[in-house]
Amino acid sequence: MLSTAPFVNNSASSVTTDTISVVVPIYNEVESLPHLITAIADVMQANNYIYEIVCVDDGSRDGSTALLQKLAEERDDLRAIVLRRNYGQTPAMAAGFENAAGEVVISLDADLQNDPADIPNLLIKMDEGYDLVSGWRKDRQDNKWTRLIPSKIANLLIGRVTKVTLHDYGCSLKAYRSELLADINLYGELHRFIPALASIEGARIAEIPVRHHARQFGNSKYGLDRTFRVLLDLLTVWFIRKFLTRPMHAFGYLGLLMMSLGTMLGLYLSSLKVFLGQSIGDRPLLVLVAILFLAGLQLFGFGLLGELLMRTYHESQGRPIYRIRSIFGTSKYFKQDP
Ligand code: UDP
Ligand code: MG
Repeated sequence: MLSTAPFVNNSASSVTTDTISVVVPIYNEVESLPHLITAIADVMQANNYIYEIVCVDDGSRDGSTALLQKLAEERDDLRAIVLRRNYGQTPAMAAGFENAAGEVVISLDADLQNDPADIPNLLIKMDEGYDLVSGWRKDRQDNKWTRLIPSKIANLLIGRVTKVTLHDYGCSLKAYRSELLADINLYGELHRFIPALASIEGARIAEIPVRHHARQFGNSKYGLDRTFRVLLDLLTVWFIRKFLTRPMHAFGYLGLLMMSLGTMLGLYLSSLKVFLGQSIGDRPLLVLVAILFLAGLQLFGFGLLGELLMRTYHESQGRPIYRIRSIFGTSKYFKQDP
């Protein structure tokens, strides 16, 4: 995290005294930008927050980049990070998180669909002791058939699989404690699964209803195909949640099961041949035995490889397999704290 950000303090009396970074990913949103920056700054200043706005330009081609650069030069509360090309919303958000200096980070979309006026509510909720507060677009202003229904199904599925029950996983408007974000690595399009990834890291998570507006300018950057990508990502998150530190239990178990079944059927066929003198060369069961045994062996090998990869992942990055929330007390038998 950076420490030299241009934080703007608008005097005392705030709900939170934490420094706040508002992170916005931007891809071709030139018309929304001026309204957005003003709206965010107005809310932050009205509430006397110590804040900065971190805009990440994700390879825009509509003049957003030049406008952002101009605004960032004029204002003392705005930093613009310009990516080399269009990477997608998740990398754009990750770039913002990584370069945010605040103790609390807020994320929201650039298209004015999220309302900065909800930021104080997120922060008030966070003050109750949460690490992540997620927005719930209770009265969502998007197309019913292409957006609302697929999203409803996705939300149900995600809740079931990830065991983090929120109404709305797709809402970008969220507040995070920065130490939580430091523990979360984002890949692909996993920004939608930040609550699930956060819960894997042991975060305390809450959800509050937020406003939602129809898109005024420009177009949505996504189509219906997103639904399928979300489902595939869900599988990944499910696997990480369940088996990240013990891949052998996923693959090895199935592998052993298949090999045992193969062995039993193989023994059965052999006994037919040996004791009863039957011919087994043309039996489909023999093919099944071979498949079960080979596939089982391969799965078993997958499990072992997975274990090696997992160890490399944790050890090379110095990532412990647990997260400590707090430590209380010191031992009187030691002169110094460890
Ligand atoms: N976005 C981005 N890179 C992309 C696609 C989108 O930074 O490749 C940004 C976009 O500018 C917006 C946010 O991500 O601020 C959400 O995009 P959009 O509004 O199109 O998604 P929707 O609201 O339709 O789900
Ligand atoms: Mg949008």
